[in-house]
Amino acid sequence: MSATDNTDSPITQSLLNLSKDDLEQYFVAAGGKSYRAKQVLEWIYQQRVDGIDEMSNLPSSMREHMEKEFHMNDLQHVETKGADDTTRKFLFRLNDGRYVETVFIPASKGLNGKQSSRKTICVSSQVGCAFGCKFCASGLAGFTRNLTAAEIVGQMLAVEKQTGESINNIVFMGMGEPLANIKNLIKALEIITSHWGLNIGARSVTVSTSGLAPQIKELAEFPVPIRLAISLHGATDDVRDLIMPVNKKWPIKELFDSLHQWRLHKKQKISLEYILIEGVNDDLNQAAILAKRAKGINAKVNLIPYNTVDGLDWKRPSSDVCYAFRDVIADAGINTTLRLEKGHDINAACGQLRLKKETAEGIIEAPAKARQ
Ligand code: SF4
Repeated sequence: MSATDNTDSPITQSLLNLSKDDLEQYFVAAGGKSYRAKQVLEWIYQQRVDGIDEMSNLPSSMREHMEKEFHMNDLQHVETKGADDTTRKFLFRLNDGRYVETVFIPASKGLNGKQSSRKTICVSSQVGCAFGCKFCASGLAGFTRNLTAAEIVGQMLAVEKQTGESINNIVFMGMGEPLANIKNLIKALEIITSHWGLNIGARSVTVSTSGLAPQIKELAEFPVPIRLAISLHGATDDVRDLIMPVNKKWPIKELFDSLHQWRLHKKQKISLEYILIEGVNDDLNQAAILAKRAKGINAKVNLIPYNTVDGLDWKRPSSDVCYAFRDVIADAGINTTLRLEKGHDINAACGQLRLKKETAEGIIEAPAKARQ
């Protein structure tokens, strides 16, 4: 096992890492019946028990045996930021002493004034991140390790427990690059979207990536209609290079080739995410090129005025500039949104809470400014 594949402790395996097939194989190999897998999954994902000892329809000898091999609690709640009726950010401690954060976005009124029923969770996929996008706190202290499928799925169970809400929308836009952890991501997606798991509709699951072209092609083969969002932030290589170091490895042409391939497999529209940064990527020429690129893959465009991040000195453009940028794209017939990001007041940029906690505990050194 590689150092980044799993946690160092505890030595037992998490039950939340296992699919229905995995569990059936486990019980059959142990001389039991495969239907035990269904019983165990019901206890985890429907009854939401905290421990194997609560799975009362399993024989006690079987539970004792399982307790020697498995654990269930991968996340311990440490801190919540944000009021009850607003976006909240949760900090969880992992079993190896690292921290991960998850954001809950409650239902709110849509543009038409109607109350939406959407309750969204923004999950993390790694501790830290190696991709160093220049607007992002998660990249400031570098990459520590991949989250296991159990730690990804466990964020949803833990947030539902903390909030008492039923989550019906999941976005992989928290800490980490999900496609750099594709093996565990795919396992987590299977658990999240399966009827025996969390049973979330695939169309309510969005994976966001900085643009790992080969893995986009690989994920396109995952036979479930999940959605894809691309952190684009520049419409030409020279501008995107300033913000997204990943663009040097997979420039815009390669990225869009992979998106064309995605479109062959999935019907859902791709979202192009574009953070507007004053004097960096808010030129109207960029807007015109962005509109053309979006049209080429029938994508929609989400414009997000830049949020201040500790340690970074970029600024958000004026509202007039943001509206002018949006109008160029909308006038080209592209479905476009311009939104003031929720959670602006609670350090919602991914990775900021974890950075503060791990720095305070001396787990990592205080990161230097990303751009000198
Ligand atoms: S935006 Fe995502 S991929 Fe980029 S540094 Fe932050 S966590 Fe990593």
